[in-house]
Amino acid sequence: MAELHKNLINGEWVGSDGVENINPSNTSEVVGVYARATAEETKQAIAAAKAAFPAWSRSGILERHAILSKTSQEILARKAELGELLSREEGKTLPEGIGEVTRAAQIFDFFAGEVLRLAGEVLPSVRPGVGVEITREPIGVIGIITPWNFPIAIPTWKIAPALAYGNTVVIKPADLVPGSTWAIVDILVRAGLPKGVLNLVMGRGSVVGQTLLESKDVNAISFTGSVGTGKKVAAASIEVGRKFQLEMGGKNPTVVLDDADLKVAVESVAQSAFFSTGQRCTASSRVIVTEGIHDKFVEALAERTRNLRVGDALAKDTEIGPVVDPSQLKQDTDYIAIGKAEGAKLAAGGELVKASTEGYFLQPTLFTEATNSMRISREEIFGPVASVIRVKDYDEALATANDTEFGLSAGIVTTSLKYATHFKRNAEAGMVMVNVPTAGVDFHVPFGGRKGSSYGPREQGKYAAEFFTVVKTAYTAAG
Ligand code: NAD
Repeated sequence: MAELHKNLINGEWVGSDGVENINPSNTSEVVGVYARATAEETKQAIAAAKAAFPAWSRSGILERHAILSKTSQEILARKAELGELLSREEGKTLPEGIGEVTRAAQIFDFFAGEVLRLAGEVLPSVRPGVGVEITREPIGVIGIITPWNFPIAIPTWKIAPALAYGNTVVIKPADLVPGSTWAIVDILVRAGLPKGVLNLVMGRGSVVGQTLLESKDVNAISFTGSVGTGKKVAAASIEVGRKFQLEMGGKNPTVVLDDADLKVAVESVAQSAFFSTGQRCTASSRVIVTEGIHDKFVEALAERTRNLRVGDALAKDTEIGPVVDPSQLKQDTDYIAIGKAEGAKLAAGGELVKASTEGYFLQPTLFTEATNSMRISREEIFGPVASVIRVKDYDEALATANDTEFGLSAGIVTTSLKYATHFKRNAEAGMVMVNVPTAGVDFHVPFGGRKGSSYGPREQGKYAAEFFTVVKTAYTAAG
């Protein structure tokens, strides 16, 4: 039996038994064994975070800066090893895994800087002789609940600002991929975090997650995951009167106009739809194409799709790794069957891939002749499946792009300044991409969506302060 990776509660590694973390590229390989916290242990973690808050919230900015900076440096120094761990537990390719780890290091570095940059405002009062100061204070205990598809980047972009602004944390990573979060928690602790400031409780959503939701001592919850779980976070948080932030699903459109550069359009869509096995909230699964370019675009994209190399995430020439687990694979293949039954035309893929190892391999799948009312165009599949919708002109393309419950990312491929400008202004999405893939964002600028995709302030960059701090307005009479 592999070594047990334990939970971290009040500075102690605890837990006696655990579950195996399985490699989706090779199901006979155990990535590691990870403890599952009980409800009682989760309560202990919350109590530890509450007890650690007064001292940590008043700790010096140099201490916080140093810990985050040291963490960034260790992550970067170990990016090959941690990238491999990530690829083994989640299934994204090794370059994608190393890229995500590098991103985590950059985020810790950014927030190490933000510790030193957090500013307030000083204004005159409308009353003579009175001054007004506006400051940002930490909130208290932050509960962090994360999904499986970015096992290191998402925990990092929540933990780093939470700690930078003086909060304490209880983090619950996705049950499927605890390894990457375990590794960054281990690094943070060795970088000098005092006990109780960061607590790790791995395990089930229905046990660990639910206990976080029900606790009055969790002052804010930052959640990324599905719409269904997000609604539970919202309802429970309203019940106890806490702040919450939700990042949820997407059904992101890419509009391809007649004047598009064909190569840019094909690469951008192939990237957005299929890389990271389509398991990105910013993946593009609706490709909305105007009549003039439709046929040649579809032909080129179908060929590119058929040529993508699917296989073991760690193999050198793999472009598309496996689906994360059997239940996601079933969801993907169910939607492929639904697409066929709805009358969309299968232009590429649609079948499982036989590889040299037992894994959850699926061909990238492209439907054409889809309509925007089909279920494959309305519901998030979260796999390497995209459909092309033919439209008459730009106006119909924009209307179709916006005809969705979601609003995370929206892309357009065009050489027209007029249409690019209009689309940036009128796409109902939190992030708009012109001639770049819908997936792939920077770490120093706001991330988030509109409509059913997100709720609450943006994540990342200096905008993260909006969620992870609370504003105070103080009035002082000069006397
Ligand atoms: P999920 O909702 O099943 O799980 C997310 C997290 O919530 C996990 O840690 C899970 O254990 C936990 N959870 C489950 N039930 C819970 C409960 N009752 N109480 C508290 N916590 C509970 O989502 P997933 O399958 O891990 O992730 C895929 C989803 O995440 C997709 O819909 C995807 O679009 C979304 N996602 C969104 C973004 C974004 O930024 N918008 C980014 C990545 C993923």
